[in-house]
Amino acid sequence: MQLLTPSLIFVGYIHMSELQTAAPLFNTVALIGIGLIGSSIARAARVRGTLACRVVANARTSATLNRVRELGIADTCELAPEDAVADADCVILCTPVGAFASVAESIGPHLKPGAIVTDVGSTKQSAIRDILPHLPENVHLVPGHPMAGTEFSGPDAGFSDLFEGRWTLLTPPPGTNPEAIAKMKEFWKRCGAMVSVMDPGHHDRVVAIVSHLPHLIAFTICGTADDLADETRQEVLQFAASGFRDFTRIAASDPVMWRDIFLNNRDALLEMLARFTEDTQAMARAVRWGDAAYIEDKVHRGRKIRQALIDLKQA
Ligand code: NAP
Repeated sequence: MQLLTPSLIFVGYIHMSELQTAAPLFNTVALIGIGLIGSSIARAARVRGTLACRVVANARTSATLNRVRELGIADTCELAPEDAVADADCVILCTPVGAFASVAESIGPHLKPGAIVTDVGSTKQSAIRDILPHLPENVHLVPGHPMAGTEFSGPDAGFSDLFEGRWTLLTPPPGTNPEAIAKMKEFWKRCGAMVSVMDPGHHDRVVAIVSHLPHLIAFTICGTADDLADETRQEVLQFAASGFRDFTRIAASDPVMWRDIFLNNRDALLEMLARFTEDTQAMARAVRWGDAAYIEDKVHRGRKIRQALIDLKQA
């Protein structure tokens, strides 16, 4: 299986003392969408001081922009995306991935020559498919995906060190300007992230197993519990053990964001789901026939994976 043979290029951390002396990487960064991820970038820019001289925020609603003003996390707020990008040398799409095509279409004609357009979306082949056709020739697309987040949404949910010690994956299409890629690597390093560059299709297969399938399972198990007879459902809630509680935390995520992720990573997600379904059938058979060794082996493998995550400081 090709999934575990990625072409990763580890770029590494940047030291905090280097940060404080470095000049801002961009003059103006425009955030199109400022929820959990966008507001975390805005806060990182404020706290670190070396990402951008100026941050412009855009959201779909004026209610969100009013909240951003109250929080004081952006220098300027613009309700029209084309106004937000007019002076930007870096534009970051931070909306649900299903909105990328319409956002790219509206900002495309207003982008500054030489600007870098990037995004934080969780599906990368669809990001390239939806954004690239709307960009002028003299603009660089460097798609990205910070592998950091929580189940909360909106500008109040963000925090400046969300990306600290976490991976950001960049998936530039073939032929992307190397200087633009280098600049986005540096941007994420200055956010505290570790960076690697990956093929977009490979990215989508990796996140299907490490993120999208676990969410699908969490939404499904909560649905199954909710379908139980009234009396049993009450007991599920009252006596929820840590296993079920952990699923409910994941299942509390934003419905629109996850709808868009599932629909835009359909092939990889269905492939991983098919493999998983086969494995659950094998486990069901082991339980039915009392195959204790099989069950024990699976639990051992789970423990090994947990320990490996702890060792990599990604737990
Ligand atoms: P969020 O908190 O829900 O914020 C979404 C932002 O996008 C809001 O400012 C919203 O504006 C705006 N928006 C929503 N729909 C829009 C539309 N149709 N057109 C234009 N703007 C729209 O979302 P998030 O959690 O930051 O996620 C943003 C992106 O990051 C997604 O693509 C997601 O896949 C990716 N991502 C998320 C996580 C995570 O854990 N949350 C982790 C990694 C990557 P209003 O508030 O005005 O509606």
